[in-house]
Amino acid sequence: MMGRALAANECQGKCAWQPTDEEIDGRQVFECGACRSEWTAEQSWTPRNWDGEISQQVARARRLG
Ligand SMILES: [Zn+2]
Repeated sequence: MMGRALAANECQGKCAWQPTDEEIDGRQVFECGACRSEWTAEQSWTPRNWDGEISQQVARARRLG
C-alpha cells in the first residue's frame, strides 16, 4: 500500500513544525504542533513556522528529498 493521505488543517498562525516517529514511503512525517497538519518532503511546498522560519529538521528533510 502506498503511503496514506497527510492531514491538512487550517493553520492559525501558530505553526511549529516538528518531526514525528512516523514515516511514509521512507520519508519522515512532520507535524504542526498547532494545527496538526502533516508534511513529508514529497510535498512540493515547504512548511514554515509562525515566525516565517523553516526549522532545521524540515530544511534537512527537504535536502534529502
Ligand atoms: Zn499549522
